[in-house]
Amino acid sequence: MTNENCLFCKIAEGEIPAQKVYENEDVVAFLDINPVNAGHTLVIPKTHFEHMLETPKDVFLKTMDAVHFLSPIIQEATDADGINIGINTLPAAGQEVFHLHVHVMPRFEGDGHKHWSGTPYKTEEEMKTVADRIRKRLE
Ligand code: AMP
Repeated sequence: MTNENCLFCKIAEGEIPAQKVYENEDVVAFLDINPVNAGHTLVIPKTHFEHMLETPKDVFLKTMDAVHFLSPIIQEATDADGINIGINTLPAAGQEVFHLHVHVMPRFEGDGHKHWSGTPYKTEEEMKTVADRIRKRLE
């Protein structure tokens, strides 16, 4: 199923040009136009789902299977020293295009990109409380 207003559906359908590097029955991979580093690739399912939380497991796993397949190929092709895999889910997490996509980002020693900062929990209790909230939902 595609969404006629979706940029990435249009790329998957070939209605909007993109540097596609891989395609199979279920997914398409193409270069991000604003790369973290050259070779930064987006892997998307052909079926439209706005974000990861809405994506059925089978579609998500097929997408991640392609990510797993493509990552070493992209790493070799770009001579990258490392790879970041990213999925931004919802605007608070930086999502701008609302069709599930996985970023495969080649990284180089000294490329200057920074990770997000972390802040340690103030107390053990605070950490345990949030772990308990997650565990409770798994019961
Ligand atoms: P996100 O913030 O995770 O939603 O990332 C969306 C990504 O899509 C950004 O990295 C953009 O540079 C990329 N992007 C937007 N439009 C296009 C396009 N037409 N072709 C390729 N990549 C695109």
